[in-house]
Amino acid sequence: MRLLVVEDDANLNRQLCQALSDAGYVVDSATDGEEGHFLGDTEPYDAVILDIGLPEMDGLTVLEKWRADGRTMPVLMLTARDRWSDKVSGIDAGADDYVAKPFHTEEVLARLRALIRRAAGHASSEIEIGPVTLDTRQSKVMMNGELVKLTSHEYRLISYLMHHRGEIVSRTELIEHLYDQDFDRDSNTIEVFVGRLRKKLHSEVIETVRGLGYRM
Ligand code: CA
Repeated sequence: MRLLVVEDDANLNRQLCQALSDAGYVVDSATDGEEGHFLGDTEPYDAVILDIGLPEMDGLTVLEKWRADGRTMPVLMLTARDRWSDKVSGIDAGADDYVAKPFHTEEVLARLRALIRRAAGHASSEIEIGPVTLDTRQSKVMMNGELVKLTSHEYRLISYLMHHRGEIVSRTELIEHLYDQDFDRDSNTIEVFVGRLRKKLHSEVIETVRGLGYRM
């Protein structure tokens, strides 16, 4: 397994590289965003540890560029402690996980192992099912590359189904996960929304599993 560490703090960079190679990984390192971006763009890594605050190019930009270029390797972001907005931005940019500084090296190692195991999953903030793409970052749905205008109810519904791709989702589950207490809990309402979505998508991507629910 080959890893990349992008961290501008020289001590921390060295410490991480040491711990990772002790754990049996092959490690490359970079101390600024530009070099880090170049390495991640040209070399095949099994995972990347990416600091958010970097000289030349910040970590979020590095990650966004990789994802935009189709680089799907798992990325663990290093964020400043208590900066919840960093964590949100990192995950939106396509990070698979994050660790807040200061951290224990063991935690980084454990999270990396998990990321590498899950690497077959979604590495970007977009989920694709057939011709339908869900952009979770911008809360948009595209059909064959074209934006589909959806109401917030319709968006939440398709988003839930797409996040549970391949699973049968019951009407009850949809109501419980998507709507607040005041929502009309008549499950026929869900049927109406599904009907509208099917019309807007002109597609058979939402399957009805008789007596059980829906599946994408
Ligand atoms: Ca930094």
